[in-house]
Amino acid sequence: MTKKENILIVGAGLCGSLLALRLGQRGYNITVYEKRPDLRKVDISAGRSINLAFSDRGIKAMKLVGLEEKVKPLCIPMNGRMLHDVEGNTVLAPYSGREHEYINSISRGDLNALLLDEAEALPNVTIYFNHKSTEVDFENCIAHFYQYETKSEVSKKADVIFGTDGAGSSLRKSYYLGKKFLFSFSQDYLTHGYKELSILPAQNGGYKAFKNALHIWGRGDFMLIALPNLDGSFTVTLFLSYAEGEYNFNNLTTNEKVLKFFTTYFKDALELMPNLIDDFFENPTSPLGTVKCSPWHYKGKTLLLGDSAHAIVPFYGQGMNASFEDVVEFDKYLDDSKDWETIFKSFEKSRKIDTDAIADLAIDNFHEMKGHVNNAIFREKRNLEMA
Ligand code: FAD
Repeated sequence: MTKKENILIVGAGLCGSLLALRLGQRGYNITVYEKRPDLRKVDISAGRSINLAFSDRGIKAMKLVGLEEKVKPLCIPMNGRMLHDVEGNTVLAPYSGREHEYINSISRGDLNALLLDEAEALPNVTIYFNHKSTEVDFENCIAHFYQYETKSEVSKKADVIFGTDGAGSSLRKSYYLGKKFLFSFSQDYLTHGYKELSILPAQNGGYKAFKNALHIWGRGDFMLIALPNLDGSFTVTLFLSYAEGEYNFNNLTTNEKVLKFFTTYFKDALELMPNLIDDFFENPTSPLGTVKCSPWHYKGKTLLLGDSAHAIVPFYGQGMNASFEDVVEFDKYLDDSKDWETIFKSFEKSRKIDTDAIADLAIDNFHEMKGHVNNAIFREKRNLEMA
């Protein structure tokens, strides 16, 4: 393992761009291939979820690459959960009694752009966009791509290939389809999907709801959440079953049905969302799933990191944070000048326990957020008022 080796990274999302930056800082020659156009130049949505809860794990990763100060202006602290009951009453449930303990809301696009800028500023990091990996020959360390602009196929050989191409990873598919080693893989979908909606800024540019909180409208079988953005808007996400219950994504097919659903269950949110109908019918409904697999690596040649190795449902707000933590933990192994296979094995051995645990906790928290949190806290509030 020498720094002259050519490292190829597939996917320049949150994990891939952080990995490129860190390995670049360590002096490796890095080439990154990303399927989508450059989000800094083309007006595309940054992918799933416009904003994200960015926790201490994520901040530690920023410290590692020296970006702690640059990321701060992108963050909105959320000190607690603002719970909304069906009558429109609210209770703020702080995450902690200590003022300095909070999570942040951050724009996926802004964070990804910062990481791309910093990685690309290094002379030994090159990023190509519009390259979709179609297959990875992990035995010979060759990645095959479709280049959208020239409509042609290109193949690139490297010494090591990292797959950071998200939940639908092409490297992971190649492991699975290649059948060259015992590869275990599971993908479990929730019965619920999600749809993004929005609360636009107030006329004076301020926030229409309390800014420094993660807003939750838990309704037992479904829920709405909202996270603040820097421009005064909130990104709202509806989590709802595809097919079960009185209201579901399959039967909310007309303006009247959607308005009735929101008037019945989310009246106070509806008042802040005059553009609900357009958002509802224009924005996609997307599935939520958990991916577990092993091994993440093939010999010392390829390694999966981030969602490609362990995609989780978003109810702990930890998918990106855990993907960033992958890079932090992986980086520790690079201090020992061992061969790649030993590094990959040791990393996966210690890391998989944690990523399996957060995957299971995230599913538990789905049930907690949509039902129990609201019930328990409003019950406590009523008891206090009656005392
Ligand atoms: P991705 O962000 O998916 O990036 C993968 C990249 O690879 C993309 O740029 C993609 O274009 C590219 N790519 C894909 N296929 C190919 C290919 N074949 N060839 C080349 N490039 C390819 N996490 C949190 O920590 N906090 C939250 O609050 C949170 N909220 C979420 C809300 C929702 C609704 C969802 C769905 C997820 C949420 N997550 C959250 C999880 C978070 O989005 C992921 O864990 C995180 O994006 C993983 O980063 P990644 O770089 O591994 O994958």
